[in-house]
Amino acid sequence: MVVTVVMRILKKWSKKYQTPTVRATSRERNPFKTLITCLLSLRTQDENTRKASSALFKVAGTPQEILRLPQKKLEKLIYSSGYYKNKAKAIKHVSKVLIEKYRGKVPSSINELVSIKGIGRKTATITRTFGFGKRDCIPTDVHVHTITNRLGWVKAKMPEQTENQLMKVVPKRYWFELNTLFVLFGKYVCKAVPFCSSCPIRKYCKRAGVKRSR
Ligand code: SF4
Repeated sequence: MVVTVVMRILKKWSKKYQTPTVRATSRERNPFKTLITCLLSLRTQDENTRKASSALFKVAGTPQEILRLPQKKLEKLIYSSGYYKNKAKAIKHVSKVLIEKYRGKVPSSINELVSIKGIGRKTATITRTFGFGKRDCIPTDVHVHTITNRLGWVKAKMPEQTENQLMKVVPKRYWFELNTLFVLFGKYVCKAVPFCSSCPIRKYCKRAGVKRSR
């Protein structure tokens, strides 16, 4: 019941914010673009991901097109995402494996996705959820992990444990939305030092592990 109320409040609260770039790719239902956008989004702000993915997809939107790009050009296109040299290498490698092993298509299975070097569970679940529209996992990044632990919905040390516990307490109808809502909420309210004094879900929160707040 508390989960349902919190999800409703957050859904309403989130309307004033721009949809995160990775989630926005779900409108296209293009798993390759979701996967690459997710790789670009690692360790950077959403604004940078948006810039880099938009620049890249104007020039190359398939594994074949990415492989045809000279390394330096790829690095230049995705420069704004940070760690651009490593990300360019990872994007090239993933594109190569997709062509060699999967006929240029992104596999939808999480096991197959994580078997490709450079793809972790978070990227795999995001690709499956937003790229394929599947609703059988909960993409769990640092925001989802931190906030659901603070709320007291789960008690977990690692995101993977959080995902497993969340699947037991969150009704399935919210699995698709959960990542987007908590990414936004982590960005603006429940930050590293959270804004508990103005938090719209404070009365439902156990504030577990919160030592400092504003
Ligand atoms: S009350 Fe504080 S810790 Fe709990 S969700 Fe709100 S901002 Fe986060």
